[in-house]
Amino acid sequence: MPPAPPPQQPKNRSRVPTPTGENRRPQRRMESRNASERAAFFARREAAAVLRRVLRGDATRRAAGSIKSLVYSPTVRNKRATFALVCQTLKYLPILKEVLASSEILSSKWKKQEELVYVTTYDILFGQGIAVSGSVEQLIMLQKDSLRTTLDKVCARKRVRCVEDLLSNKSAVKPKPRFLRVNTLKVTTESVIEELNKMHMVDKDEMVPDMLVLPPGTDLHNHPLVTDGKVFLQGRASCMVAVALCPKPGWKVIDACAAPGNKTVHLAALMNGEGSIIACELNKERAKTLQHTVRRSGANNIRIVNGDFLEVDRNDPSYAEVHAILLDPSCSGSGISTERLDYLLPSHSRDSQDDAGTSSRVMKLSAFQKKALSHALSFPSVERVVYSTCSIHQAENEDVINSVLPLATSLGFELATPFPQWHRRGLPVFQGSEHLLRTDPEDGLEGFFIALFVRKAGPTSEEPSEDATVEVRTKQVRGRRNGVRAFSSLRLSRMILW
Ligand code: SAM
Repeated sequence: MPPAPPPQQPKNRSRVPTPTGENRRPQRRMESRNASERAAFFARREAAAVLRRVLRGDATRRAAGSIKSLVYSPTVRNKRATFALVCQTLKYLPILKEVLASSEILSSKWKKQEELVYVTTYDILFGQGIAVSGSVEQLIMLQKDSLRTTLDKVCARKRVRCVEDLLSNKSAVKPKPRFLRVNTLKVTTESVIEELNKMHMVDKDEMVPDMLVLPPGTDLHNHPLVTDGKVFLQGRASCMVAVALCPKPGWKVIDACAAPGNKTVHLAALMNGEGSIIACELNKERAKTLQHTVRRSGANNIRIVNGDFLEVDRNDPSYAEVHAILLDPSCSGSGISTERLDYLLPSHSRDSQDDAGTSSRVMKLSAFQKKALSHALSFPSVERVVYSTCSIHQAENEDVINSVLPLATSLGFELATPFPQWHRRGLPVFQGSEHLLRTDPEDGLEGFFIALFVRKAGPTSEEPSEDATVEVRTKQVRGRRNGVRAFSSLRLSRMILW
């Protein structure tokens, strides 16, 4: 039987990954194929492209993004099917590798399309069972019986009754509500509630202003409110950081480690677009993502600086009037590893043994975090500094704060209490840790950490209340904008280093 050509490409598809060795002219008319087979053909290719980036990132420890962020990027069309295929293929990956090793498939030219082979083998052996079009599909279908025989032998050798018993018992994500933040630079919270109420159950969050809560599983990635930047799909704990900083409209604020920019644009909204924000980001690619986020938000008071925050000269006159700094530095991400589906990655079991909060990676991160926080506290006019991580490790949280306390005290700072009504505070490892804030998966949130420094004795007289939530709420009522602000395009400038 000659191999069937791939199905016709859907209209408007700008770029579909076309693996080498396959028919590169998908526009060729094909025989009648039903829509679901066509969708499955393309979903397998989209999943293979995402899987390639995930596995490469995991192997080199330079992830291009989480599984979710890669699947939900604008280039992936069939997001739901692609996400399911990537997750399932990763779950079955050790078994797929073992079964495929018994065949010659991956020691031949097909090695170049390794990820598509994994996805397709998963789909044929454990998924929909049959795949008609595409040369990789043809290949796996031809070998289906022998692959199944190998699978039975593997089960017998490992003394398990079925394949599911071979899957490791890695934890799955507990469904959490879908949180979203209304971008008050573009719309009012009430108008978003009215719009979403047509289709979903919507509640206002009790603690974070302009935060809405929808039922778990609500998929809004392609909703016009999201694509137009009127709402941001941002976790509750992540939104508590900018609220804790409580920047005033008109202030000059630095977001020290800014990309992808969720907190930067939240700051802009809290400042009603007044004043200025310098968003510093070291990584060039991530600085582009930051630029995209800023553009989507409609904020026009954000200047992006692509450079190292540690190299920003605090004595430079342009930083002399910086009132507040938000420092959300690179961290281990141990508080959101379940959300990121890290447990599906091949490196996970290795990590869980050696990444328990004292690994050399965490220690390196902790050293950087201490340096960056000391630097932030040393800006001459800064009155408020918020430090946050999405880590649960003491080394990246309480230990960082404790280590800078002598410097902070000598500069006139004290630890303040963000969200005093929140029950979970810092680990009791030094006096004053009760000011710190932790969130935990037990609270139905990601694992986050927030510390707030406020300068009591300093050059400025006006000090915001320590209860950031109360103050921000008042401000939102007074200063909410209804209009859409035009975005004046920001130039991605190279930072001048000294
Ligand atoms: N605050 C961001 C948000 O909510 O969207 C997330 C920030 S992420 C945790 C940390 C960022 O800091 C990364 O994009 C990383 O590239 C950047 N970064 C790391 N070291 C840096 C440095 N020395 N200067 C500036 N940015 C840095």
